[in-house]
Amino acid sequence: MPSHRRKIVAGNWKMNLDRSRVTELAEAVVGRSQEAGGVELVLCPPGVYLGTVGAALKIVDRTSPSGVALGGQNMHDKASGAFTGEVAPPMLVDLGCRYVILGHSERRSLFGETDAIVNAKTKAALAAGLTPIVCVGESLEEREGGRTQAVVTAQVRGSLAGLSPSDLERIVVAYEPVWAIGTGKVATPAQAQEVHALIRGLLASLASPEVAGRVRIQYGGSVKPDNAADLAAQPDIDGALVGGASLKADDFLGIAAAFR
Ligand code: PEP
Repeated sequence: MPSHRRKIVAGNWKMNLDRSRVTELAEAVVGRSQEAGGVELVLCPPGVYLGTVGAALKIVDRTSPSGVALGGQNMHDKASGAFTGEVAPPMLVDLGCRYVILGHSERRSLFGETDAIVNAKTKAALAAGLTPIVCVGESLEEREGGRTQAVVTAQVRGSLAGLSPSDLERIVVAYEPVWAIGTGKVATPAQAQEVHALIRGLLASLASPEVAGRVRIQYGGSVKPDNAADLAAQPDIDGALVGGASLKADDFLGIAAAFR
């Protein structure tokens, strides 16, 4: 039975492109957004280009006429202060963001973000009115050591600690096995579904089965137009967080179309 959850496909552009190319890509996605059907699209450009992409999306009051939403790739958990080089949640809101990616594996592995840090950021994002896309996922060593369930369980519990059921209902979770990110090695649909079902069960234990049934859980890790349909067919996969393939409008929209 198809789920009632609206599918969501987000593009994480990471530290790529320049001003003219972000404009070109955003305009291409907006111009063809109907190809995604009812799938919600989110573009997450580098922070310095949020305003440029927001203008291309014609965002006013965080609403874009095309329905394509804007998201940050990271933020600080404080609203302001002496944190050189950081971006505050209200600043993302001010630039028209509705979403923010938190706890991406690159933030965890390269910038030392722990579950406690991700938890503080998740609470700050919700307090600012942003929808956090909270990323979790095991490394290759952890999967091969049979620790996937334990690692993902600890990340979900740690990153979402202290959230009320109504807060939990407002988040998006992205399951991104680290070994599949940027490697071309996509998890099999069965591998992904197994962990998505685990995450939904954890959300049920943190809130209730009803709340868990409303939370969208994206898969991320080498999603491409040619593997998206098999992932989309899984009952607990509600969309994708896309890195490399989100840099081409054709590929990004092709993935979104698979989730229609
Ligand atoms: C990501 O970085 O979130 C990601 C899923 O990257 P890729 O699609 O390139 O594997």
